Amino acid sequence: MSATTSAFAANLAFVRAEIAKAARAAGRDPAAVTLVAVSKTFEAEDILPVIEAGQRVFGENRVQEAKGKWPALKAAFPDVELHLIGPLQTNKVKDALGLFDVIHSLDRPSLAAELARGFAKLEGRPPRLFIQVNTGAEPQKAGVLPQEADAFIAQCRSEFGLSVEGLMCIPPADEAPAPHFALLAKIAARNGLAERSMGMSADFASAIAFGATFVRVGSAIFGHRG
Ligand SMILES: *Cc1c(COP(=O)(O)O)cnc(C)c1O
Repeated sequence: MSATTSAFAANLAFVRAEIAKAARAAGRDPAAVTLVAVSKTFEAEDILPVIEAGQRVFGENRVQEAKGKWPALKAAFPDVELHLIGPLQTNKVKDALGLFDVIHSLDRPSLAAELARGFAKLEGRPPRLFIQVNTGAEPQKAGVLPQEADAFIAQCRSEFGLSVEGLMCIPPADEAPAPHFALLAKIAARNGLAERSMGMSADFASAIAFGATFVRVGSAIFGHRG
């Protein structure tokens, strides 16, 4: 093992232990929280040691970037699961459907329509879908507004026939994240959605306390992005 390889493995072990600790503190089963290792901006040579350390679930925020590095990695490690955690343009849906197992960023009717069209033509299993909620109502951020979430979830189900499984949020950088996690959990509960994708390197323990089932952790595993 090279020095970097063991550093990645140590980071991964640390994050996993912290997830387990946060889950137990919240009276939850650690196995109910899935770690999505966010590998955006990192190359295959950096990702490989993390796969070799046993991590199988990864997240990327750009379709184009993922298309460049993941097909080869997925061919070598067929049990790897890839999650799209960044915004999805409708003209990238076809590529996204060929790459991702879970999409966390469904956030508008035009995208729901395009996904439904893509699913109809798909031979394999369609990706699982989470709706992104812009809990802080930030103008620059993707996601449906909290007050529009119930209607959009219903629309995805009835109008587009999509089976939505969960919600995702990215709290505003300059605010305490806990109220945003609480809000996302509340919207998920009242819509019968089991999955909550919330919590990043700085705040995943808090997200787990509020019921996160997927935490998206990048820098705590891979180090700072250049
Ligand atoms: C980059 C990113 C993360 C990971 O952030 P870290 O602070 O590095 O853990 C999580 N979620 C989304 C949507 C991201 O774009």
